[in-house]
Amino acid sequence: MADPAPPPRPPRRCAVCSKPVSPDNRFRPFCSARCRQVDLGRWLAGDYAIPVKPDDQDGDDV
Ligand SMILES: [Zn+2]
Repeated sequence: MADPAPPPRPPRRCAVCSKPVSPDNRFRPFCSARCRQVDLGRWLAGDYAIPVKPDDQDGDDV
């Protein structure tokens, strides 16, 4: 068995444009203020809304 080397840490990428984000970027996890705004806009638009679970488990008698 070979010694398992720790996997190289992949550079964090902007969630909006997929560009690598440097660790000292003040807009992390985004690459720029613009991408941060784009992501915020998505949130407000409801793109990241949590899917509601239909209550199909509601069948026990009391
Ligand atoms: Zn970006």
